[in-house]
Amino acid sequence: MHDFQYQGNELYCEEVPVRRVVEQVGSPCYIYSHRTLIRHFHAFEEAFQAIPHLVAYAMKANSNIAVLRVLAREGCGADIVSGGELFRALKAGVSPQKMVFAGVGKSEEEIRYALQSNILMFNVESPGELQHINTVAGALGMRARVALRINPDIDPQTHPYISTGLKKSKFGIRSDRALEEFEIAHQLPHIEVVGVHKHIGSQLTKINPFVDSLKKILELIGILQAKGFNIQYLNIGGGLGITYSDETPPHPRDLAEAISPLLSTIKCHLIMEPGRSIVGNAGILVTKVLYNKDAETKRFVIVDAAMNDLLRPSLYEAHHDILPVMKNESVPVNTVDVVGPICESGDFLAKDRKMRESKQGDLLAVMSAGAYGFTMSSNYNSRPRVPEVLVKGKAIMVIRKRESFEDLLRGETIPEVFA
Ligand SMILES: *Cc1c(COP(=O)(O)O)cnc(C)c1O
Repeated sequence: MHDFQYQGNELYCEEVPVRRVVEQVGSPCYIYSHRTLIRHFHAFEEAFQAIPHLVAYAMKANSNIAVLRVLAREGCGADIVSGGELFRALKAGVSPQKMVFAGVGKSEEEIRYALQSNILMFNVESPGELQHINTVAGALGMRARVALRINPDIDPQTHPYISTGLKKSKFGIRSDRALEEFEIAHQLPHIEVVGVHKHIGSQLTKINPFVDSLKKILELIGILQAKGFNIQYLNIGGGLGITYSDETPPHPRDLAEAISPLLSTIKCHLIMEPGRSIVGNAGILVTKVLYNKDAETKRFVIVDAAMNDLLRPSLYEAHHDILPVMKNESVPVNTVDVVGPICESGDFLAKDRKMRESKQGDLLAVMSAGAYGFTMSSNYNSRPRVPEVLVKGKAIMVIRKRESFEDLLRGETIPEVFA
C-alpha cells in the first residue's frame, strides 16, 4: 500500500501532482510520501504491540535526515552500519538508546564513537571484533553492551547479493561456535552480553525462512539461559520484502502471528530492523524522457535518470514498475529498454518492458524506489546527485537539494606543482 495513485490520468503523491514537484525541483528527483512512511512504521508497531519491542529502522535503506526525523518522532530507533550513519541518526534526533550497530568491519574510531554516544548495543559479527570492542571499551573505562550476531545457515530464498545468513556468507558468527563465543564474551571485562541477533537477508517474500531461522536462534537462547546467561534482547533483523511487481510478501501482522507463539517461551525484549518494508514503496524516482531510439533489434527509451541515481536494476537485475506521470491510453504499447545517459551497457532501469509509447519530455515514475535508491546513488559520470522531496498532504518539502557542479569538486585540489 502506498500513496502514489492516479487521479484521473495524472499521478499524484498524496494530494500533490507529481508533475508539480518536477516543476519546482526539476528532473530527475526522488519523491517520498510522508503518509506511507508513517503507515509502514505503524504497521510494525501495531503488529507487535503485545510484545515488548523496538523497531530499529535499517537506515542504510534511506538515510535522509528528514526521513529519519519523521520516523524518530514516532518513536522509531535505528539500525546503523557505520560512523556516518551514527552521525546522521544523532543529527536526526534518534535516541542513542534505540540504536543498534551492525556490520562486519567496524573500525576502532567507529567503535569509540558509538561507545561515547552510548548506543544501545553492538551486534558483533566475529570473534576478532568482540576482542577489539573489549579493548576499545577498556581504554575508555567503559563496558560495551553487545549482542552476538549468529549466522543460522538458513536460505532466505532471495537474490544471492542480498542473502546474508548462509554458511558461505561473510555475516555473523558461525552457529556451531556460538556457545563458545558467548562463553568467551562473558569472560571479557569490558563486555556485557545482552542479546542475540540474526538477519538472514533482504526482500524475503516467504515467512518460512523467518520462522526456521528464529527456531534455530531460540534453541541457542534456551541453552544460554539454562547456563545462566542473562539474554535480555532478541534481535530478529529485517528483510521483509515488498511488492515490486507481483510479489505478495507477508504483512508485518503475518510475521507477528507466525513468530509470537515461538516467543512466548522466552522472556526477551524483541528488536526488529526493517528497512525496505518501511521506505521501499514510500518513494519514487521521477525521470524525463530525452529520446526515443530504434536500434536494429531493440527500442530504447533514453531518460535523464541513470544507474548512478538508481543502481538496483543494474546491480541486482531488480524490477521496478515504470508508470507514466500522465496516462494516455490511446497510444500504442511497445517493448522497450529504458536506459540512462551513462556510458555503460549496464545502465538501464528496465529491460524488454511493455510500456505505452512516450515522447520527448514525458515524465515517468520509477516505482518502489524509496529503499536502496538515493542511498546507493553516486556521482559516476560526474552527474550531480538528484534532489529528494518529501510530500505531506498538499505540502512539498525539499529535503535534499540537487547537487551543483561545484558540489562535484568539493574536497578536490590541484597540487601547487601543477599550477
Ligand atoms: C540491511 C539490513 C537490514 C535491513 O534489511 P531490509 O531488507 O531493508 O529490511 C537489517 N539488518 C541488518 C543487519 C542489515 O544489514
